[in-house]
Amino acid sequence: MIAELSAAMAALKETAGLVKVISSAKTDAEIKAATFELQSKLITLQSDCFTLGDAVRSRDEEVMLLKAKIAEFEDFKAQTEGYVLNQLESGTLVYTKNQTVGDAEVAVHLCPNCHSKRVISILQPTGDTAYDAHTNKYLHQSRCHGCNSIFSMNISNYSPPSFTISSY
Ligand SMILES: [Zn+2]
Repeated sequence: MIAELSAAMAALKETAGLVKVISSAKTDAEIKAATFELQSKLITLQSDCFTLGDAVRSRDEEVMLLKAKIAEFEDFKAQTEGYVLNQLESGTLVYTKNQTVGDAEVAVHLCPNCHSKRVISILQPTGDTAYDAHTNKYLHQSRCHGCNSIFSMNISNYSPPSFTISSY
């Protein structure tokens, strides 16, 4: 039982006890004293009820917040269903799922930064390449439009146009 409810129940019990005192009182003075105490107990009880109301309201708000969080979590879970952590040829880790787009099956990559913040953001190609000096290969580049990060993706068959250095 919550503390606020226990306090209200205790005040209620004391108030009921005072009614018994009044009904068995023998003198006017006894009745007056008990009535005065009864009034004061009723005021306490009223204040306890207000406190109880506040406690219930704050718990309702907490429940609503938690329900919204659960819904958000479940929504994210549903939308990321089937995505698995995947390492690309560049070494970049992304969340990937093969999806049918039109007639073709394409690998859809989600931004790992946004994913960790429970935001779904599909990586889009920039059209540029990144040169990897370690492998001497060019890599496709993708950008997350959610957090603006740029990622090196898989190996591209791009080769830079060869040009001759003219000597004078
Ligand atoms: Zn992102």
